[in-house]
Formats: sequence, C-alpha cells, structure tokens
Amino acid sequence: MTEECPLCRYGEARSLFHCADRLYGTTTKSFLVVECVKCKFLRLFPRPVGEELASYYPSGYWFQPHDAASQAAEIYRRVVLTDHVQFVDAALRRTKLTGPVLDVGPSGGLLARLLRDRGRKVVGLDNSAEAAGIAWRVNGVPVVAGDLLAAPFAEGSFAVVTMFHVLEHVEQPGEFLDAARRLLKPGGRLIVQVPNAASWQFLILGEAWNGLDVPRHLWNFRDSDLEWLLRDRGFTVLRRKHFSLRDNPAGLATSLAPWLDPMSRRVRKVPESTPVALMKNLAYLALTLICLPFAALEAVCRAGSTIMIEAEPK
Ligand SMILES: [Zn+2]
Repeated sequence: MTEECPLCRYGEARSLFHCADRLYGTTTKSFLVVECVKCKFLRLFPRPVGEELASYYPSGYWFQPHDAASQAAEIYRRVVLTDHVQFVDAALRRTKLTGPVLDVGPSGGLLARLLRDRGRKVVGLDNSAEAAGIAWRVNGVPVVAGDLLAAPFAEGSFAVVTMFHVLEHVEQPGEFLDAARRLLKPGGRLIVQVPNAASWQFLILGEAWNGLDVPRHLWNFRDSDLEWLLRDRGFTVLRRKHFSLRDNPAGLATSLAPWLDPMSRRVRKVPESTPVALMKNLAYLALTLICLPFAALEAVCRAGSTIMIEAEPK
C-alpha cells in the first residue's frame, strides 16, 4: 500500500492487523493498522476524518462526569495525577519563567486545577465547548474552546505548553508541535505524553493493548517515534518519564478486562444495579493494583506503556 509516512516520508507501509472499537463499541467497522516499511511507525490506514472520526468519540470521552456519586472517583483521579503535576511543576522550576501554562486538551480541567492550587497560572484549550464549560464551572479554570492550530493567543505567551494524550488523536501532529513552539516564550518547555507502542504491554498483548484505542488513536508512537518527530519540528528532548500512575496500571487492567473498565461501562450504558456497579469498580481497582508492579517494572526498563517528554525549542 502506498501512503507517505509522516515521519520518514517513505512511501510504503505493510498491513499488521485489523482491529475494531474494542472499548466503546461506537462502530462495527474494522480498522487496519499498518507499519511503515522503513521506520516502522504504526498508524491507522486509512484514517477516519471529519464527521466520521467525530462519530467515534462517545459523549463525555474527554472528561468525567462530576456529580455526587463520583466524589470517590474524583479523589482517585487527584491522587493518580501526581506524576503529571510533578512533571509539569519540575519543568516550570527549571525554566525559571513566570508565565502561564497552556494545557491543550484539559479534559475537564482537573490537572489545570491541581497546578493552579500550587500557585501556577494555567489556561486550557479544548476542542469541545462542553468540556471547556465543565472545566470552567467545576474546576474554576479558564478554558478556551478552540483548535490549537487557530489558537487565539499571542505568540510567545506561555512558559509551558502541555499535551497529555493529544498527539495520537490529531490528523496533523507535526503542525501541533509547530503551533506549540510558536506559543512558547524563549526558553519555554513543551510537555507531551502519548501511549508508547514500544512498551512491553503492546509487545505482549498486541492488538488487545488498550493504548491502541482504535479508531480514535490515528498514530501509535513508540517513544523513539515521538522523539524523532520532536527533533524534526525543532525541539531538543530534555527529560523522559515512562511511568504514569494514572495511565499505565489502569491501561493494563483495561486491556485484560475491558468489560470492567468504568468509562467503557458508562459509555456503553451497561445495565447494572448500584451494588453490582460498586463490585465491578472495586474489582477494576483491585486488578489495577495487581497490574501496578508489572507497569512499574516495564517503566524502569524504559518500556512503559506511556511516554512523557519535556522538550525545549532549539
Ligand atoms: Zn516511516
């Protein structure tokens, strides 16, 4: 098959496997994952675009509901965001810049709120006006509804730009990095996190790996692919982290038992009584804890199921 590789520009890719929307069942269609013959970059082919792609995002995909029943989940989410908060905070300390943080794709604004609680100035930017509204109302953080490629901010406005689990969803990841570079102050930092297709989880689980999230993840970066793209777009990689308490153990739990995943059950509107829902949530939490040592071990061996990078424009 012929399609120019977005990384190495080589024109040939080979088919790897077909995959359906395993987690949310938004479609019965099957999707093909291909690999660049030259650099091995993995991606969907053909990639859904526009309204078709939008139809694969279930309502509430980008954020969690905020109601009285979800208070325990809210506490859990605050705890497991520790890695993200500390990574951004360390980048801010290292820059010694006082400017604000731009969180692209803030998913309801909890991370932005936790950073603000540490005294940081934070602005969010989200494609979804609904998610932006929730971030304002629930977490009190300013989130602009809009696209990064047409962001209504002056160049050089931000000390740090963060993109947690954004690049794998967008049709133009390179252009997103260009836009982030323009928005950064001199000496500012970009922080990017994506699932890592060079992880042991993908090696062992293959197409059952949750990090593929077909058909919403258009690109399946290995850590080396992300670094290649960052360098290609004029960044120097300063720091890497292969572990994320929020993503890595829970992602493995979801790969092993997708029917227990709380978000999947909510999206699929699985009929279950309150006690049954509670039992399933506790079982999912127990499975996540069981997965924790493996997720930590693969991360120590630089094969964690996510990769978080701090980069600086050259
Ligand atoms: Zn390639």
